[in-house]
Amino acid sequence: MPELPEVEVLVRHLAPLLEGRTIRAVHVHRAKVLAPASTRAFTRALLGARFCGLTRRGKHLLFALRQAGQAEPRTLAGHLGMTGRMYLLPAAARLPKHAAVVLNLGRENFVFEDTRYFGRLTLDLRALARLGPEPLGPEFTVGRFADALARSSQQIKVKLLDQSLLAGVGNIYASEALFRAGLAPTLPARSLRPDQVKRLWRAIREALREAIVCGSTVPLNYAGQGTRDGLFDFGRAPGAPDFYEERLRVYDRAGRPCPECGATIKRRVQAARSTFYCPCCQRARASATACRRR
Ligand SMILES: [Zn+2]
Repeated sequence: MPELPEVEVLVRHLAPLLEGRTIRAVHVHRAKVLAPASTRAFTRALLGARFCGLTRRGKHLLFALRQAGQAEPRTLAGHLGMTGRMYLLPAAARLPKHAAVVLNLGRENFVFEDTRYFGRLTLDLRALARLGPEPLGPEFTVGRFADALARSSQQIKVKLLDQSLLAGVGNIYASEALFRAGLAPTLPARSLRPDQVKRLWRAIREALREAIVCGSTVPLNYAGQGTRDGLFDFGRAPGAPDFYEERLRVYDRAGRPCPECGATIKRRVQAARSTFYCPCCQRARASATACRRR
């Protein structure tokens, strides 16, 4: 599932391709993604509008659209859900089976494809109001993070998925950040000491930044080939190195050796989601036989 870095890479990729383009036709193949707007209202709002900006908030893409004669642009929010993809396709090319919404831009179509139906492309911005700070932005301070954790009895891995705590971190980068910080995923959020909070704060930002850099250096895979989710394996030709394998340290690596200490990486389920961790580098309690890493 795409998280902050994958969405950020997509935004940087799409922004120059969409800038100044006019929507000439709107085709809605699955009205559910527009909710609560009807296909008719959505089409009326978008038809004839020009793309005049693309930014990101958490895991949401924010498209700025301006209608002729309107002073203020309107925001269209996109969310990729589990496996959604957004890309441009020549207008003459055949549409994918799971195209949910297609916006014709003249020679090309902007396609929102969603095979598992959890994505959104909507004028309803209420979900954005509930988001916490951007983890890479100036509002996400150690102090603010510490205060929020101190009020929570949830396990720290579960708490990191709370989008009102910070926006854009999901299952992958929660596991990765806890590993980098050397913290057990089961620790109650409010039990973290100030030095641990600071380590985790730094680890979250490092993990996200590195992922954005990694994703910006490899070609995007629109075809959805390979074993992972289309675009979000950051694309690779068959037989080329798998970037996920190389850049993620614990996520989806259960049964394999920890890159730091060699212990076997474990998987556990927390709040119905998988967590991956090293039982040696991420002990809940300090032990007499400390991990080689620490
Ligand atoms: Zn380890």
